[in-house]
Amino acid sequence: MSVIEVLKNNAADYGVEITPDLEAKLEIYARLLKEWNDKINLTAITDDEGIAIKHFLDCLLVSKAAQFKSGNRVIDVGTGAGFPGLVIAAAYPEVQVTLLDSTGKKLKAVEDIREKMGVENAKVVHMRAEDAGKMPEFREKYDFATARAVAELRVLLEYTLPFVKVGGAFLSLKGASAVDEIDGAKVSLKTLGGKIDGINEFTLPGGDKRAIINVKKISHIPSRYPRVSAQIAKKPL
Ligand code: SAM
Repeated sequence: MSVIEVLKNNAADYGVEITPDLEAKLEIYARLLKEWNDKINLTAITDDEGIAIKHFLDCLLVSKAAQFKSGNRVIDVGTGAGFPGLVIAAAYPEVQVTLLDSTGKKLKAVEDIREKMGVENAKVVHMRAEDAGKMPEFREKYDFATARAVAELRVLLEYTLPFVKVGGAFLSLKGASAVDEIDGAKVSLKTLGGKIDGINEFTLPGGDKRAIINVKKISHIPSRYPRVSAQIAKKPL
């Protein structure tokens, strides 16, 4: 079965719609992901079923945790090969998505894939999150931040919440460790103006557990955050 057939066979069970437009874009994405992966180390998951379930369906489940509205701005921090940001951009052409990563060679591939998919509502930004989060161009300018497989939650909050407007949310795509990570993120949440607003839990076909933690931004972030990378690594909140 092709990537798209596997995706379509499973998406309906999760209430996820695959429109013809999205199908066409994801077909190109799957093909180019494999092509690029032969040249650079873009993702560890390269088989058709894995791409369909662990990449595409997993990312599309974000739609169960948040209601994106036309004109919303979303930043995907540590997007890697474009997950979940490029999938969100493909599914929601009326939402503006920034794909941020510190690894230039991955972004070169993502930019090529984005262009060939015909996704006009996404742009790539090559920066570290801690640097971009200090800049007026990015700081508190987004309705949503997303991140998958980038860091543990207490660290991730310092990377992501600076981008989010008060009243907006950070959607953290996690696995089975979500509840433990929330326990470990109490200081970080309090310091950075975040509040847990819900957790959506899923079991993917094949049995992998997933959780999307919805962190609401309830107050402005103190100006000293985010700190420089060395400090974040040495003394996580
Ligand atoms: N989100 C993608 C996914 O789920 O497939 C990629 C995950 S990959 C394991 C982590 C990515 O986060 C890498 O591409 C890395 O360059 C990026 N990253 C890690 N720390 C970062 C930071 N402080 N700022 C920007 N990108 C970062």
